[in-house]
Amino acid sequence: MGWDVTVDLDKCTGDAECVDVCPVEVYEIQNGKAHAVNAEECLGCESCVEVCEAGAITITEN
Ligand code: SF4
Repeated sequence: MGWDVTVDLDKCTGDAECVDVCPVEVYEIQNGKAHAVNAEECLGCESCVEVCEAGAITITEN
C-alpha cells in the first residue's frame, strides 16, 4: 500500500512549491516542471496538493 503521485504537466508552472513543502523530497524540477522522482517515498499528507496553485497534483492511494 502506498500513494500514487501524479503531476499534470500541462498545468504545472514549475514554481517548485511542492519541492519546498514535501517532507520526503518526492519532487524534482526537470525541464521546468515538477516530476515525482521519489514517489515511493510519499506519505500521502497532501501538503503538495494544498500549496499547488495550479492544481496540478493528484495523490491517490494504491
Ligand atoms: S502528499 Fe506529502 S509526502 Fe506525498 S508528495 Fe505530497 S507533500 Fe510529499
